[in-house]
Amino acid sequence: MEYTQKNLANIQTSFSKDLKDLSHEQLKEKYLGKKGLVTEALKEIVNVSAKEKPMYGKEVNTLKAFVEEKLSEKVQQDREYTSKPKIDPTAPFDINEKPHLYNQMLSLKGSKHPLTKEMEKILRIFSSMGFDILESRQIDDDYHMFQSLNFPKGHPARDMYDTFRTEDGLVLPAHTSTMQNRALKKFGPPPIAVVLPGRCFRNEATDAGHEHTFHQIEGIYVDKNVSLSNMIATIKTFLERYLETDLKVKIQPAYFPFTEPDCEFVIGCPFCNMTGCSTCGHSGWIEIMGCGMIHPNVLKEAAIDSQMYSGFAWGFGVDRLAMIKLGIEDIRHLRESNLNFLQQF
Ligand SMILES: [Zn+2]
Repeated sequence: MEYTQKNLANIQTSFSKDLKDLSHEQLKEKYLGKKGLVTEALKEIVNVSAKEKPMYGKEVNTLKAFVEEKLSEKVQQDREYTSKPKIDPTAPFDINEKPHLYNQMLSLKGSKHPLTKEMEKILRIFSSMGFDILESRQIDDDYHMFQSLNFPKGHPARDMYDTFRTEDGLVLPAHTSTMQNRALKKFGPPPIAVVLPGRCFRNEATDAGHEHTFHQIEGIYVDKNVSLSNMIATIKTFLERYLETDLKVKIQPAYFPFTEPDCEFVIGCPFCNMTGCSTCGHSGWIEIMGCGMIHPNVLKEAAIDSQMYSGFAWGFGVDRLAMIKLGIEDIRHLRESNLNFLQQF
């Protein structure tokens, strides 16, 4: 009896261990099958003395009940495991929590950011007008940011361009004019027609109309006998093609060290026919970009004869122009990666 009781204890121990390692089928075979350990222990009762039979019978039946119960629990657990949705460890946790959201995400296709799409449209227009394209740098030096553009050291107008600097004196461009000197040298001698798209940075508080990071497209055109009227016609043609409407335009005075004269290009608001709306601040006019004739010092700095050649330049914010066209009221939406916003374009 001692031997058989010890045997029952051993069966229970080995079953508890196998429970983790073996499948339900293997366990059933090993313990409850025709030659299973529990089945064999049940048969053993014939060899137990009459006096000990009730006790042994009770114990072996308890063991059998224990094994059956654990096996049925295991079947239940396996079923729960396989019916759970598979977890995607790279997905945001709420997607794993909500399978319907996950399916929704799977049906989405990626697309270009609205700013990228608008940038491409704008560059296609300038390209069709005969302009080359040269992308600006995202980190530059004081010479290209200021000195080559007729802002000598200590020039008060430097304060109008508050941007970020690295510890070793490099500058994050506050305008894509940083490329003017390079473009004049690269594409010269004139005629030169090139647009300079790129990312710009300003060290300022953000609000609905201002971001620390934005995009500009600078343009320069240099040749013999270039005049302000060429500039007005070029910018007007571009804006009418981009905004897909005829425009009333005017220029008004401004100040930039790298142009002479310096102008602000203003369009009659195409959204309210100049009667006043929120886009034009109820004035009927929208100031759209800075522009002017390239300062002779800027041409000279790039070794271009300013007696023989003249040129014009402009610079506008792509974010702002795209906002006007698409009716976006807050520039910060363009950098928030909010799918509800982005899917509208
Ligand atoms: Zn308006």
